[in-house]
Formats: sequence, C-alpha cells, structure tokens
Amino acid sequence: MLNRRTFLKAGAAAGTLAYLTDPLHASQGVSAGSAATTTAPGDVPWLKTLRRIGQTNITEHDPAVMDVEGWADYWAGVKAGVVYVSVTGILAYYQTEVPFHRKGKYLAGKDFFGELNSAARKRGLRTIARMSPDLNWGDALAAHPDWFMRDEKGNAIETPDTPELFQTCMFSPYMTDYMTAIMREINARYDVEGFYMNGWPMFNLPVCYCNICRKLPPPKTPAYWEKFNDRVIELWKQYDGIAKEKNREAFYFANMGGGVHATPNLAKVGAATQWFQADNQGRGGQDDPVWGCTQQGRVCRAIMDGKTAANVTGSWSTGPLRWRESFKSPAEAQMWLNETAASGMVPYYHVIGGEGGMGEDRRWEKFGAEYFAWTAKHDAHFANKGTIANIGVLIGQRTQLFYQAPRGVSMQRNMDGMYYALLEGRFFFDFVHEDRLEPERLKKYAALILPNIALLSDEQCAHLRTYVEQGGSLVATFETSMYTNDNQHRADFGLADVLGIHAAGPVIGRRGNSNPFYARIERHHPILDGFNDTNWLPGAEYRQPVAPVENPVLTVVPGFVSYPPELSYPPVRQTTEPAVVFRERGKNRLAYFPGNIEHSLWIAGNTDLTRLLQNTIRWVAGESAPVSIDGKGLIEAFAWETEPGFAVHVLNYTNPNTHRGWLRDFYPIGEQKVRLELPAGRSVKRIELLRAEKEIPFRISGDAVEFTIPSVEDYEVAAISAS
Ligand SMILES: [Zn+2]
Repeated sequence: MLNRRTFLKAGAAAGTLAYLTDPLHASQGVSAGSAATTTAPGDVPWLKTLRRIGQTNITEHDPAVMDVEGWADYWAGVKAGVVYVSVTGILAYYQTEVPFHRKGKYLAGKDFFGELNSAARKRGLRTIARMSPDLNWGDALAAHPDWFMRDEKGNAIETPDTPELFQTCMFSPYMTDYMTAIMREINARYDVEGFYMNGWPMFNLPVCYCNICRKLPPPKTPAYWEKFNDRVIELWKQYDGIAKEKNREAFYFANMGGGVHATPNLAKVGAATQWFQADNQGRGGQDDPVWGCTQQGRVCRAIMDGKTAANVTGSWSTGPLRWRESFKSPAEAQMWLNETAASGMVPYYHVIGGEGGMGEDRRWEKFGAEYFAWTAKHDAHFANKGTIANIGVLIGQRTQLFYQAPRGVSMQRNMDGMYYALLEGRFFFDFVHEDRLEPERLKKYAALILPNIALLSDEQCAHLRTYVEQGGSLVATFETSMYTNDNQHRADFGLADVLGIHAAGPVIGRRGNSNPFYARIERHHPILDGFNDTNWLPGAEYRQPVAPVENPVLTVVPGFVSYPPELSYPPVRQTTEPAVVFRERGKNRLAYFPGNIEHSLWIAGNTDLTRLLQNTIRWVAGESAPVSIDGKGLIEAFAWETEPGFAVHVLNYTNPNTHRGWLRDFYPIGEQKVRLELPAGRSVKRIELLRAEKEIPFRISGDAVEFTIPSVEDYEVAAISAS
C-alpha cells in the first residue's frame, strides 16, 4: 500500500527505522533537538510548530497489561509533538479523591496517569490530559440526580451499549462542580500542557427534560441552539481559566468534528479556542465518499484564522462496523492522513488499547512510524500561512441543523454533490462560515457559492448584498434565503433583489414514480458549453418555482410519469417558468438555479447536471484563477502560501473506492500541469516534490510559475521555495 521506496528512504533519513527493529532502544534515538522537544525559535508558541500528534486511548484493563515504556518510546520515536494521556471522568486512571470519580477495576494502587505522564515527559513529549464529561455511574445518579439527562418521562438516560452508565447533562452542576474538581486535582499533582474533553459537546443537539432543561426553549429549535451555544462557550471559558490557574500557557479544548454538521456555532468556538480538535476518524457510513477529512479541514480553516486544527485518524477499523482494536486498510488510513495534511490540519494518529503491551494487532505501529517519519522530513513545507483560492463556498450551520429538507433530501448529500462538482472541475475554493461574511473576509473571492443555504438572516443577506455591490459574484440554488435564521418561511427570497428573482408558489417535487423536471434550452449561453444535439437538459428532483424573467436561458418542462412509457411525455411543450436565472451587472455575475441540482447530481450521478454547475461556476468566477492544474484524473487540490514560499497539494482520488470505502490500493495518475500566479515581488528558487523526493524544473510565464508533476500515486506536494 505504502510507497515502500519513499518511506524506507524517509524512515532511514529521519532515524526512526531503529525503532522499527528495536523498540526498546527507540528513546535513545531521539535527540534533545527533535521536533517534539525543541522550543520554537523566538516567541513562536509551541502550538504553531506542532506537526504530529499521537494517542493510545487507554482502556480500564490497560493498567494491568500496557507496556508504558514501549508506549512512550513509540510516540517519542515517531516525533509526536504531543500525546494524550487519559485522566477521564468516567473511570479514574489515578488515585483520585474526587467523589464519584470511580477508580478502574485494574488500577489497584497504581497512579497510571502519573506513570504515563512521566514516561512521556521524560522523553520530551508534551502531554494533554484527556477527560470525558459525558457519562457516570449509578451511585453518582443516586446521590446527584440533578447531574443527569432525563427523557420526557423523567427517567435517566442509559447509554445504549453500557446500561450501567448514564448520560450527564451539560446544563447541570456536573460540569461546573465535578469536572472542575478533577481538573484542579490534576493541576495540583501533575504537569500537563492542556486539558481536553472527549464526548462533549454532543455530535447531535441534546434532547433533555431535566429540571434545568425544561426551562430552556424546546429542543432542536434555533432558540434552543442559542442557549446551547451560550453554555458551550461559558463552560469553555471557565475550563480554560482553570487550565491556566497553574500554567498560563496551558489551555482547554473539547471534542469537535462533524464537518459541516457540527452542533456548536463554529464561529464562536473558533474565537474561543486555540486548538480545534476534529474527531473525524474515518468514513462513517458505507456510502461516504473519501473526502470526509478534507471537508473537515476546510471547515476548520473557515473559523480558526490559522490557529491549530488537528484531525484524528483512527488506525482502527472505522465505519458502519467498528473493530476498535483491529487495524484498517493501510491505503484508507494513509489517504485520511494525506487529507489531513493537505487541508492544513495537523496529522493525529489514534490507537485504542494496550492489550498484550502495545495492542493485540500491532500492524498500526510500523505504518504510523513510516508516515510520521515522512512528514517529519518536510515540516517546514506544512507551515501554512493562508490558502490560495478564488471561490468561497458558504457553510450554513443553521440550515444543516434546522432546515426541514423535502422528503429524501439530505443536506450532507447536498454538500457532497456541490463538493464533487468542485473537485471534478478542479476549482480552488475555501469554505466560508455564514457568521463571518464581513467584506474584509470576502474580498479574496471572485465568487461565493450558496448550496441551498435555506436559512439566512436579514443581516446575513445584507452582507451578501454588500459583497455583490462591491463586485462579488454568486451562485445560489433552490431554497437559498427562503427562511429566516430562526427557520421562519419567507414569502419571497431574502436575496430576491440581489438575484433578481421572486418566489412563485410552494416547492414542487416529483410525485411517486414521476420523473424529475426538465430544462428546455431557450438560447445560447456560456453555461451550455458542451451541450450539443439536445433541446432539453435534466432539471432536478425539487424546485422552488420563480416568476418569469425576460429572455430566459433555460425554462422548466414539468416532470411526467416514468411508467408506462406510453405516458412518458410532457403535459405541456413549453412554459415561461425559468430553470435558471442569470444577472450581469458590471463585473458581477449572478446565477440562481431553482432546482436542488447539486443534490440530484450526487444521488443520480448525473453528468449533465455536474457539467452545468461547473460551467456556471467557471462563468461567475471568471477565466483567470490564481492557480490551476490540468491533467487527467479525479483529484482534490489545495494551494497554500507557506513559510518557505508556496505549496500545491494533490490528492489522487482516481480510485474505485472513492465513493465507497475503503481504499484498497492506489492507481497512479500521469502528468499534472500546474500554473500558479505569483504575488508581486515574489520569485521562485526551487520546486521539490515531497513524495517523489526530487527537484523538478519550472518556468516563469508572465506573473506565474508553471511546472509539471510527472505522476501522483496517492498524494504529492509540490513545495515551492520562494524569496
Ligand atoms: Zn438537562
């Protein structure tokens, strides 16, 4: 799976292969000057130099069986900058005195947390104290009934797998009395760089009927969400303050992830935290595409302003069936780590349990060591300053959380459809958070894409209006701006004036077995490039009807039955209802599709709809992109301004398992011709391919640098050193 030649070379050069043959002596191979232990030069905070993270997630049984020295040797040997050590909250791994912090069955008299923490710190590893505030046992429930979540009947809520454990309520004093006591106990006894909480905030908005929550707005409403966000940020700040009571450099952070479907307001979390922990360990569902990790990276980039974001890669078998202590396909794990690095997050490798010393399945060790050894050789080129992209894709958390999509429509699939069209079209884009639409942030984008961002406040609409008035272009689809931020349906689009459209009645969907609607070509337009010998194009499953416009490009042909074929013909030949609306004002180009075309193209695999969308994005964004890559294959690409210059990352998704996991192997693609516009005053010194480990020629053409990546197996980084 791995490119053996590359990795063996990388490992030998980085001095980590010693570990692979002789784990007992690994710690001797780590010099005081390794990446993990070096204080960053000048005043650079250590988080800025963090490039690798390791975690062995401790089980209750581990105090009896785990090889503590082997564990510490491994993570030091692979140059992890930080390791997680479990304190927990469900089970104590040390001799706690906090009431109801139950000591594990195999802890005996041990200070297991202390042993691990010392073993790591002795080797120069920084440590994060890992806690879990989400569950506790029956004795705590009996003594503190107010700590726990309740169902509508008032019963405490058991966890599905372990009925002896109950879910705690984040609005209760459990969070402010119990968890804070544990943090202060750790501070009093040990040194750590930070505190991390797993299992909170929940990945779905909590539904709780305890006495405190009964006084809140109803669950799963925008009003509840406001209270939820207030509580998350209030606790976050309190915990961060406790972390700093001992060491003012220390900090607190919690478990995030979920990509575009995260529960807390990401803009608020981004402002409050120094580290965004994305617990997105692998593909979750059987039909999840491979890019779940890069979507997460783009979400992090949208809200963190360059602060640390890390995504967890589970070495274990993630997916619809979870084998927690069995190594997954190395190709799948490798692509997930590649995606982490390419999208600007810190690679983080996660293993569960130390049965038999280092785990009964130890295949994870060599794989992780080789991958980290490769990244360690090239740390400088992963120090990103900013993305190079000319398109912004709006992420609407309120739409993800509260919008009632029509039957059969999923907002994650909607995003995947847009994402796929963008990747196949080889666009360079960022995600933009709906609460961060100030002109200063948006000015780098020639165009913004609004993929059915149904919920938009008047204020958000005003920001978008300003963006357009200042020369920005838009592509919007379906019910974009038809709802207010608190999910009230509007009579007309919030962006009606901007897009030049008016709603004309309720959403129309296909009925029963009838076909989706069609779009009749009325006149020539650049978005129709490549469509010859047809008068019709596919429409979409659903559409928001809009009033007729002058000189339409596409009009709606209503859908008709699929069976029997005798009746498969249109009820009317032509209508005046637009299937797309364009507007050109100065250099603005605005496009609105009444259909949910990105969802339809994703679930049907429809190539016409993808082409239509790509042509439209190209038309609104203009011809001149700051970076482009020509070549064959399905890729995802990122361009970064880096500390040494620039970097172009290419992920090769040309693989039969891109749309359904896991990857089993890689299938190399050929020449990729890159063109990157250079900012004024910058000149290129050399370009090196970090995976192929060779320098390649380049030429300067006008204000751009051009070069060819000869082939890409799974991942390539063209690292451009520039002055
Ligand atoms: Zn509650």
